[in-house]
Amino acid sequence: MFRRPKGTRDFLPEDMKFRRHIEKTIRKVFESYSYEEILTPTFEYFDLIAEKSGEEIRRSVYVFEDKGGRTLALRPEMTAPIARVIANELRSRPKPLRLYYITNVFRYEEPQRGRWREFWHAGVELVGSSRVESDVEVISLGCEVLETLGFKYYVKLGDVSEIRNVLSEIGVTDEREQNLILSMIDRGGDYSSYLESKGFDPRALNELFSTREVNTEKIRQVLNLMEDKFSDRVIVDLKLSRGLDYYTGLVFEFYVEGLDVAVGGGGRYDKLIETFGGPRLPAVGLAFGLDRIELAAKERNLISESEVMKAIVIPLSEKCVKKSFEISSALRELGIITELEVMGRKLNKSLSYASEKGIRFALILGEKELESNTITVKDLKKGEQEEIELGKLKKYFKSITRDTVCTSL
Ligand code: AMP
Repeated sequence: MFRRPKGTRDFLPEDMKFRRHIEKTIRKVFESYSYEEILTPTFEYFDLIAEKSGEEIRRSVYVFEDKGGRTLALRPEMTAPIARVIANELRSRPKPLRLYYITNVFRYEEPQRGRWREFWHAGVELVGSSRVESDVEVISLGCEVLETLGFKYYVKLGDVSEIRNVLSEIGVTDEREQNLILSMIDRGGDYSSYLESKGFDPRALNELFSTREVNTEKIRQVLNLMEDKFSDRVIVDLKLSRGLDYYTGLVFEFYVEGLDVAVGGGGRYDKLIETFGGPRLPAVGLAFGLDRIELAAKERNLISESEVMKAIVIPLSEKCVKKSFEISSALRELGIITELEVMGRKLNKSLSYASEKGIRFALILGEKELESNTITVKDLKKGEQEEIELGKLKKYFKSITRDTVCTSL
């Protein structure tokens, strides 16, 4: 027996159904804001990932050498790869760029509740504007995703440029040193002692973190412009600093009821694309952890799928098999998910298989039906059956759509 690698999961058919449903909902919200999908390779040169990802992520990157001796890394997030694509390929497209992705990412972390080594990011990047409208758009879009999925949620909002300013004022001017301290703050580490040990006075920073009023201009603007239903969900937390080096301004995290870790996060990164050799393009983005959303949704019983019509066509003898293929195709054209009995089972066995799989309609084709150009349709939900002319199948199923979902009818 082989086991799964630590921190990975298998998704069985019922799990996938649930995941795809969430994914579809998120995709719909992203697309309704006019974001377009993008995909990059699963692995990148390690240098690209190391450049701006932050200490936390650098430490947890899966690195390997390929047979040509190149040092590669499995992507731990999508913002850096997308910044590379923008710098190389999309620089002359009309701005702003609105891009989204839903894909797997990898981090070598200690697995625990809501934390895996392979997980999925669903995110957006809004590129080309440094105006506050774009921050408002991305935060609102995040709120809309959680609202559409039915969550009770809140958003933490901070501003790393404020922290960077204070650090500069107290003498920490080196960007790398600033990043280190930001990541320390992010992890709840003892930044005060660290600053003191380096000869810096941490008091101004402590003061910033303890101010009660919303005192940054950017945050005030965001709260003013957001729709009330979204701004009501915002909690300002100037200590929020996120674990990535590339953030330059507002940062935010999304939390839902029942899960104490963030389901999503993001922020403004105005220098990343330039760092990768592109033009100076300010940008703001966010990423949701699909797996955490799924975990929270499952526990809250938030998502129930509407019933989908399924059918199975059962030929009762060899003679009926060919016609069964035709009938299956016709049903699929009507938008009904259709299986053909391929196990050669007797009727009773096929019917109990159908009920176990939640298939509602069994279409039974015997030689009698074959001759009369009809088929026996058994509605397993109602326990009724009737013989129907093949030409009237559409009418039969149309009459049922009133209480069921069947898209193409
Ligand atoms: P980050 O940009 O690192 O905050 O990632 C964005 C989102 O991805 C987080 O808010 C989490 O929901 C999710 N996430 C981060 N790390 C993991 C992990 N190891 N396993 C599952 N989800 C994660």
